[in-house]
Amino acid sequence: MSGESKVWLGVKRGLSRHCPNCGEGKLFSAFLTPRSRCEVCGQDNSIYPSDDAPPYLTLVLVGHVILPFMFWADRAFEPEMWVQFAIWLPLVAAMTVGLLPFMKGAVIGFAWANGVTRNSVAGR
Ligand SMILES: [Zn+2]
Repeated sequence: MSGESKVWLGVKRGLSRHCPNCGEGKLFSAFLTPRSRCEVCGQDNSIYPSDDAPPYLTLVLVGHVILPFMFWADRAFEPEMWVQFAIWLPLVAAMTVGLLPFMKGAVIGFAWANGVTRNSVAGR
């Protein structure tokens, strides 16, 4: 398997919140806690670091989806500020929390494909 297709495979499996190694077992045991042992293949998925990458990717994605609608609504309807806050704050919060596990899965899949573990980055 070429390096690029392994990266895509890992990211794809992680995006679906499945084990990057087998693609069948669940990746998380809780909201954002990777399983230390895949129920299907036994892979330890807690060894892959994700750190700040998932929140960063989530905010970039949410920002690019929400901001055009915010600007459009502001120009088209000129709503009061409290209306804007009442609409956009809950929407941004819900999208951020909703997308975070998928982004974390993708980052773990990327780390799996590239052989990056907590131990391999510990000496940085
Ligand atoms: Zn597995």
